[in-house]
Amino acid sequence: MRVNISKNKIEDPFVLKIQELSGQNLLACYQCGKCSAGCPAVSEMDILPNQIIRYAQLGFKNELLESRSIWICESCFMCNSRCPKGINIAEVIEALRQILLRKRKDHLEVEKMSGDEKEDVPPIALISSMRKFTS
Ligand code: SF4
Ligand code: SF4
Repeated sequence: MRVNISKNKIEDPFVLKIQELSGQNLLACYQCGKCSAGCPAVSEMDILPNQIIRYAQLGFKNELLESRSIWICESCFMCNSRCPKGINIAEVIEALRQILLRKRKDHLEVEKMSGDEKEDVPPIALISSMRKFTS
């Protein structure tokens, strides 16, 4: 499927919300792929970090909010340090988590997990999940 960036896409409320929450200019990304090449978690991701930015540019709301990757990201900031355009990809991913958490939607139901299950979960998923109880 070929989708181009248009004025409508740039002004899509979902795209604007990601930019507002993350403080990042999504259009600065030129898809060099350096963020994904350095990410230690890509083997577990269904959408790679550079693809997350591309999907965000295009306003692919469902694909992003249903993605496993936004919960797999461990906020190590490797991608941020590698981006030649100065984009903080980790903040974009955090913005996507925030959009879901503000709707009280979560990837995990912490209160229903056993101690053993919690040990297998990426720390950021647990931390993000706990935020809904405190924010
Ligand atoms: S912050 Fe997330 S997306 Fe970026 S390199 Fe680390 S795990 Fe990968
Ligand atoms: S490193 Fe930066 S410019 Fe390159 S694909 Fe990732 S976000 Fe885009």
